[in-house]
Amino acid sequence: MIAGVLGMLTTLRWLFKRPVTAHYPDQHLPVQERYMGFPALLWDESAEEPFCTGCMVCVRECPTQCMSAEMMDNPKFTDGSSHRRKIIETFEINLNRCILCGICVDVCAFDAIEMSYEHELASYGRAGARADLGLLLDGGRRYQVEASWVPENADKNVAGVALAKKAAAAKAKAQDAGTGAEGSDGAEGDA
Ligand code: SF4
Ligand code: SF4
Repeated sequence: MIAGVLGMLTTLRWLFKRPVTAHYPDQHLPVQERYMGFPALLWDESAEEPFCTGCMVCVRECPTQCMSAEMMDNPKFTDGSSHRRKIIETFEINLNRCILCGICVDVCAFDAIEMSYEHELASYGRAGARADLGLLLDGGRRYQVEASWVPENADKNVAGVALAKKAAAAKAKAQDAGTGAEGSDGAEGDA
């Protein structure tokens, strides 16, 4: 009898405990800050274009060969609104083959790719796991907001910063040249 009551009490206690599982996919648990989901491409707001220059280093280094990319001349470089001569034209990652190793992120010198928080892969089509440039940039934009992402090498890779640095260097050089010319004029006058 006592054992039966104790058993009932145990059952009742568990009945009112907070659940430790989630009813996925209706309920999503927040991912941890260090979570490494699928790779995604990042967006440089200062030039309104991707950070990716299509240099192909990640494509060559990917151990599962699941990436492909094509670069093109960047029209924004010609009009002076970006420091990137080349820009990505097409990019694709077959997420079915991606092993989430993070090598593509490690080898990228342009702050262009990160392991995002994206982790859901279910689709109805065979090609559903092929993420194109648009999808990769969408994932990257979400990641940039969610992780409050800042580039590691902003001086070199953020167009606004790189252009401002270049303009400042050109101005300083012009000033130096002006001072030098005045100095040499003065020297000629003294002679
Ligand atoms: S995380 Fe690894 S496997 Fe996936 S795309 Fe990057 S380099 Fe390739
Ligand atoms: S993500 Fe980085 S390494 Fe890969 S092609 Fe773009 S710039 Fe190059």
